[in-house]
Amino acid sequence: MTKQITARTRTVVRHRAERGGWPLCERCGSALGTNVHHRRPRGAGGSKDPATNPPSNLLLLCGSGTTGCHGWIESHRAIAYQHGWLLRSWQTPIQTAVRIHDRGLVLLDDIGGMTPALPLGDAA
Ligand SMILES: [Zn+2]
Repeated sequence: MTKQITARTRTVVRHRAERGGWPLCERCGSALGTNVHHRRPRGAGGSKDPATNPPSNLLLLCGSGTTGCHGWIESHRAIAYQHGWLLRSWQTPIQTAVRIHDRGLVLLDDIGGMTPALPLGDAA
């Protein structure tokens, strides 16, 4: 059984994505975020893993499974891993940086916050 994302968690993620009162896509920032995306897929950590549904593992994205940023991530998986939009099964969401459109690389916490992170891999 896949544990559902709670209404409270959805609210935390939506508020994190809000800019000027609008919940924007956390990847592109140029469209409304309409879809909650799992950075570490539900199947990868096992549905019993409590790390599957906290805010740090979730992104609000535009599009659906085939359109917008949600579709883009699914069709550009190698790049998505580099930017933390997708995680490997062994990566911990709260400890793995993700690129947010207007914040750069950040670490997400589980109460809707984010803090700047050092670049992954190739430093500038
Ligand atoms: Zn987008």
